[in-house]
Amino acid sequence: MSAELTHLTASALAAQIATGELSSVQVTQAHLDRIAAVDDLVHAFLHIDRDRALDQAAAVDAKRAAGERLGPLAGVPLALKDVLTYTGAPTTCGSKILEGWMPPYNATVTQRLLDADIVILGKTNLDEFAMGSSTENSAYGPTRNPWDTDRIPGGSGGGSAAALAAFEAPLAIGTDTGGSIRQPGAVTGTVGVKPTYGGTSRYGLVALASSLDTPGPCARNVLDAALLHRVIAGHDPRDSTSIDAPVPDIVGAARAADVSGMKIGVVKELGGEGYAPGVEQRFTEAVALLESLGADIVEVSCPHFDYALAAYYLILPSECSSNLAKFDAMRFGLRVGDDGVLSAEQVMAATREAGFGAEVKRRIIIGTYALSSGYYDAYYGQAQKVRTLIARDFEAAFADVDVLVSPTTPSTAFRIGERVDDPLAMYKADLCTIPSNLAGNASASFPVGLAPEDGLPVGLQVMAPPLADDRLYRVGAALERALEAQWGGSLLDRIPELTTLQEVAR
Ligand code: GLN
Repeated sequence: MSAELTHLTASALAAQIATGELSSVQVTQAHLDRIAAVDDLVHAFLHIDRDRALDQAAAVDAKRAAGERLGPLAGVPLALKDVLTYTGAPTTCGSKILEGWMPPYNATVTQRLLDADIVILGKTNLDEFAMGSSTENSAYGPTRNPWDTDRIPGGSGGGSAAALAAFEAPLAIGTDTGGSIRQPGAVTGTVGVKPTYGGTSRYGLVALASSLDTPGPCARNVLDAALLHRVIAGHDPRDSTSIDAPVPDIVGAARAADVSGMKIGVVKELGGEGYAPGVEQRFTEAVALLESLGADIVEVSCPHFDYALAAYYLILPSECSSNLAKFDAMRFGLRVGDDGVLSAEQVMAATREAGFGAEVKRRIIIGTYALSSGYYDAYYGQAQKVRTLIARDFEAAFADVDVLVSPTTPSTAFRIGERVDDPLAMYKADLCTIPSNLAGNASASFPVGLAPEDGLPVGLQVMAPPLADDRLYRVGAALERALEAQWGGSLLDRIPELTTLQEVAR
């Protein structure tokens, strides 16, 4: 019974909780049991909030019993990426420097989840301060991909994606600065949506790169992602970059699942050499499927996308070197060497030396250099100009097509350890996702099958203009409906059953 519960969609769970067929306590307990059984192996969670989750669930059940109207996801459990604040639980950002730090306020995203009566199971693992594409940069150890536990679940939001694929949670929240929702979605066979920049609030999201960071929904199917997106989206006066505009009808678009008459552009620069054959094959098949569903397919060139990765790896380190300056041993978390002998500056240096991992240090050094006087114009300034050219490529394309598509990632999930000593190889995992972050538009990854060569999930990326997030859902839902008819179920029905650690030991 409880295995079945953890395989249900969020919308099905919510419907049964609303009618009283299931209680939220029962659903929450089933997911906590699943976490207890498999998370020693998967390590999706950094913190499990067992008692509070059950209390929240009981409160939803009491509301229902009292005849109160419940929201569309009320009582459904969720996994929250540990870069968003939630009072009463530590926020670590996957870093030693914040170990045990208890935030004094809730992120707007967190608060909206609570207001919608969504049950928060705990905080999920991530690359330290969301820097990475594999979740191997977490100071608390890697997360494993439930499709193959020797492989990475993507990053930085590997914990959130793995929690979905391991059936530990039906919903999760991620944050996407360069691909950290979409790339983990692609390599775990789940749905990940990066809303329009400013469409979801950054208040209470520990900043990586403020001009790029975007919280968004992660789910096992398109409608669940849309329902969650609607809960967290919308203007927030506490975030100065939040957009004060109506949220498009994303749930309606997900239900419509209709691409007939849509014009879809395949980005020429995001494909070809360097892409795994199975990724290319599934992507090409999915595009043909969209055409058969009535979409008009054209090839589009976005010539400046070739420079996106280079521009991103100047802009992101620059912003993060400044954002992470606040971790100085005085205000938050860790303090090392405070023995009355060392100066304040020496304590700061010793703390940052001990508290930050290699990738974080690498980016702080690059960013500090790129922003230094004499180099600012040549590096940071130049990268910002390239960013404008990329945004113009998108504008020109969207004058002609409704959405753009590409593979989400050049390869399927790679092996744990394979790229840790090769930062450039790691950075290439985000080749396709970064342009949308630089331009601030909406984009998403949807599962389109398994690569024949390794049997691992492949994602298709859809990119839409700013504030046209609904188009992502139209395309994603149409694809999902057609593919699930071919497969006779969801892609995740084909995931091998996870061995629990007890079974491994046997
Ligand atoms: N992998 C990218 C990076 O390392 C994306 C990070 C993100 O989106 N948070 O910067």
